[in-house]
Amino acid sequence: MSNISNNIEFVKKNIQEASKASNHVDEATLIAVSKTKPVAMLKEAYDAGMRDFGENKVQEIMDKYEQLPSDIRWHMIGHLQTNKVKYIADKIYMIHSVESVKLAEEISKRAEMCNRVIPVLIEINIGNEESKFGLSPDELEAFVRSINKLSGIKVSGLMCVAPYTDNPEENRIYFKQLKQLSVDIMTKNIDNISMDVLSMGMTGDYQIAVEEGSTYVRVGTGIFGERDYSIKI
Ligand SMILES: *Cc1c(COP(=O)(O)O)cnc(C)c1O
Repeated sequence: MSNISNNIEFVKKNIQEASKASNHVDEATLIAVSKTKPVAMLKEAYDAGMRDFGENKVQEIMDKYEQLPSDIRWHMIGHLQTNKVKYIADKIYMIHSVESVKLAEEISKRAEMCNRVIPVLIEINIGNEESKFGLSPDELEAFVRSINKLSGIKVSGLMCVAPYTDNPEENRIYFKQLKQLSVDIMTKNIDNISMDVLSMGMTGDYQIAVEEGSTYVRVGTGIFGERDYSIKI
C-alpha cells in the first residue's frame, strides 16, 4: 500500500475509535484536503476509496475537476470571493465558508442558474481570532435570518477552524461551543435551515472534534503530508 492509502486507513480508524468512544451513532465523514497537492496524489486517494475532497482555491478546483472522476464530491473550505462563485456553482458539492450576506446571495443566484440548491455551512470564528474568517457566535442568529429565504442555498450547518495548538485538548472547548451553537440555533425554529452538519477538526485535532460531534473532518497533512506552498501545480 502507498503512504497515502496507509494514511487514509489510519485516519479512518482513528475516526472510528473516536466515534465509538463518544457513542456517536454516525461516524464523521473524512474530507481529504488536497489543496496544493498534485492530481496524481488525489488519484491515489481516490483509488483508496476517498470521494470527498476539500480545496480552498477556485482555480485549483476547476483544474482538478477536469482531470478527476465525476463522482468526487468537491468541498470549498476556504475563503470564497463573490466574483468567483460563478466558476464553481455547477461543480461544488458543498461550500463550508459562508460568512456574508453578499456571498450567500451570489451563491444562491448562481445555483439557481444551474438549477440546483447548494448546501452551505456558516463559518464561525470560534476562537475569536483576528487572523481568521467567520462570524462571531453572537452574529449567527441574525445572519441566518437574513439568508434563510434564499432559494438556491440550503443552510445545512456550521464550520470552524479552531486555533492552532500543539495540544488538541485545548480545542475541545471550541468544538463543544460550535456544537452547542448549532443546538441553540435549532431551538429558534427558523424556516428552511438545518444544522445536521458540523465541519470541524483538522490533522492536529480531528479525534477531539469527532468526540464532540463533528460530522465532517477536514484532514490534509495527515493524508498527503506537509504542504509546500512554493511549488506551483
Ligand atoms: C488546509 C485546511 C485544512 C487541513 O489542514 P491540515 O492541518 O493539513 O489537516 C482544513 N480546513 C481548512 C479550512 C483548511 O484551509
